[in-house]
Amino acid sequence: MYIDTHAHLNYEEKYGDEAALLAHIRAVGVEKIIDVGWNYTSSAYAAKQAQANSCLWFAAGFHPSNLEDFREGDFEKIAALLAAPKGVAVGEIGLDYHYENTDESAQKRAFCAQLELAHALCLPVIIHSRDAAADTLQILKDNRRYLDCGGVMHCFSGSEETAKEYLKLGLYISFAGPVTFKNARRLDEVAKIVPSERILAETDSPYLAPEPLRGTLNTPANVPFIYKKLAQLRGEDEEELAQKIYKNAHTLFTKLNNHGKI
Ligand SMILES: [Zn+2]
Repeated sequence: MYIDTHAHLNYEEKYGDEAALLAHIRAVGVEKIIDVGWNYTSSAYAAKQAQANSCLWFAAGFHPSNLEDFREGDFEKIAALLAAPKGVAVGEIGLDYHYENTDESAQKRAFCAQLELAHALCLPVIIHSRDAAADTLQILKDNRRYLDCGGVMHCFSGSEETAKEYLKLGLYISFAGPVTFKNARRLDEVAKIVPSERILAETDSPYLAPEPLRGTLNTPANVPFIYKKLAQLRGEDEEELAQKIYKNAHTLFTKLNNHGKI
């Protein structure tokens, strides 16, 4: 019984036959998937997919690298999407300084505004941070009052010290494909120190396919590779770890307990 806490099945053009894909994912034992938006359109599409498919839930928000899509009123529209029974989180949000010419102050403003939105909606946040660890941590510390419904550092790839700081803020740490990569020694150490009540797993599909499928189109059907590697690193039984992660996901994303329409 697996859960994939972060995937982007809302890339319409990347995954052909949706019914066949979901059947394949279910067949390997993946029971629930959180389908994550990166702008308004992708969030609205994820909401529609979640309404139509019993194994999908969704998150809605603006990724820091997609702010050029932002239009006046979009945060209100995202809030309206999240009123749906299967809208589990505000995400993904955060900071990404990877690309040249990023508008860091615009990213910070959008990040703060969405932390505030999550607090207002009483929903957890899904946080993306790339090449921006110091600023991400500073913003989270400064906005701690808005983290009262919790959050997760998705696809964590930072240091042990950074992970400890996020844990102190009450956040969960989620591992994706990179933890399975052969050169991931630093991340291996992080996977060993995250307390079992704060660990999550995800694929971040369609990106970052785990070993041994690296370089291929990733899907939530590959999430067992992440669980296997985490169990190995932590010296835990894979099935027990899967049960803990499943429980953690439901503790953080409380709306995962909602099924279908109300
Ligand atoms: Zn993502």
